[in-house]
Amino acid sequence: MKANFDNSYAELPDALFRRQNPIAVSSPTAIARNEALAENLGIQFENDWVDVVAGNVLPNGASPITQAYAGHQFGHWNPQLGDGRAVLLGEVVNGQDRFDLQLKGSGPTHWSRGGDGRAWVGPVLREFVVSEAMHHLGVPTTRALAMVFTGDPVVREQGPLPGAVLARVAPSHIRVGTFQYFAARQDHTSLNALFEHTRMRHFPNCNTSSEVLQTAVDRQAKLIARWMGLGFIHGVMNTDNAHVAGITIDYGPCAFMDTYHPMKVFSSIDHQGRYAFGNQPQIAAWNMAQFATALLPMMDDRDGAIADFTNIVESFGKTFEQAYRAEYCAKLGLPDDPSSDILIQQFLTMMFETAGDFTESFASLEAEDVPVSLKSHSNFADWHSNWTSSKTRTPENPMFIPRNHLVQHAIDAAVTGDLTPFHDLWDAAKTPFAQPDNAFLTTPPKPEQVVTQTFCGT
Ligand code: AMP
Ligand code: MG
Repeated sequence: MKANFDNSYAELPDALFRRQNPIAVSSPTAIARNEALAENLGIQFENDWVDVVAGNVLPNGASPITQAYAGHQFGHWNPQLGDGRAVLLGEVVNGQDRFDLQLKGSGPTHWSRGGDGRAWVGPVLREFVVSEAMHHLGVPTTRALAMVFTGDPVVREQGPLPGAVLARVAPSHIRVGTFQYFAARQDHTSLNALFEHTRMRHFPNCNTSSEVLQTAVDRQAKLIARWMGLGFIHGVMNTDNAHVAGITIDYGPCAFMDTYHPMKVFSSIDHQGRYAFGNQPQIAAWNMAQFATALLPMMDDRDGAIADFTNIVESFGKTFEQAYRAEYCAKLGLPDDPSSDILIQQFLTMMFETAGDFTESFASLEAEDVPVSLKSHSNFADWHSNWTSSKTRTPENPMFIPRNHLVQHAIDAAVTGDLTPFHDLWDAAKTPFAQPDNAFLTTPPKPEQVVTQTFCGT
């Protein structure tokens, strides 16, 4: 594999990372490679690509490291997490763009805490499909470059499963938890170096910590509004899974919602429903408050700086509310104005009361193909006539999202060596606003097929 590496993170103070090569696997085989993405990044796959993604061969110019980070997991502070099953091969530079190239599932590291450092094909395939779908839906996200089978089994609760590695790319992997790690240790030298690196990389127009924080909060609020508009549930919004630059990262037990329920939970380990669909904005705001806390040592030395930080964190609510309205007004073709709020709320209520499918319900309005259950709601006729007279533009809704039962089906097939369902999903994910030819890909799950929970992506 050929790429133009320039590894700036590996030049930062030692405390930020550990040097670590991926651990070789026994007999890697190809699952998929993303040619279009490689071309965008100036990466050439070449004959050795499977061995590179498996971690058996290092590309020229790589300088592999694992990154230090901490985090609040389900609200509980953990002072040391770090890349326990991932290795950052290096940063690929292409023109003005700089991207991390990371292998996930590449073996034990300094941060593995007794874990095996591996991944099985289930979470690898889910992240591949869902992250690519999110990209094509217009959501800032890490992306999937390639995935391979390792040839080595991985043992999980379900028994031995085929091991896999995902090569993913991202503008960086700098998390709220990365800042928390150094703030908690009062290692201000490393914290400052991290801050300056992050500022140059993600916030080049910001000069102060207040400006960085404000931009981070704005981007985060807009990101979560995008998730909410797609019925996307991240599942594990821990601060170590919160990118500081408003990018979706660390797809674990994530899913797009089928039947609409404002408090739907997908993760089997989220017993309290902390990361339920409707809680995501609140949690993201909380995560930004943790970012602000970690940035306190960088706060400007002036009166009012603390009040600024507080106001900035609180501004999340308003920015989110506006972005959320913009999102739903676009979905319903309404003017982006508070006067549309009532129609949005009424539609969601009818969808909830009739157990409507989130994606299908929105898409059906424009197609004039509204499901019978929704159409029979006692308020539907009135709502529809108000909506028709208020509508000012064509609604924008995806026709395709990679539904959880389809992802599960693709995983089950991949375990037996059949990659056709995966390729069907990936193909459809490239044009989510078009109606796929295959109706199987858009039909909501039948009740008996519903997989209500995805297991943690380990
Ligand atoms: P995540 O669930 O991806 O947010 O991971 C939380 C933390 O656990 C991170 O520090 C991971 O690197 C670590 N981790 C998760 N799974 C494994 C594993 N199989 N082996 C080692 N570390 C892991
Ligand atoms: Mg994580």
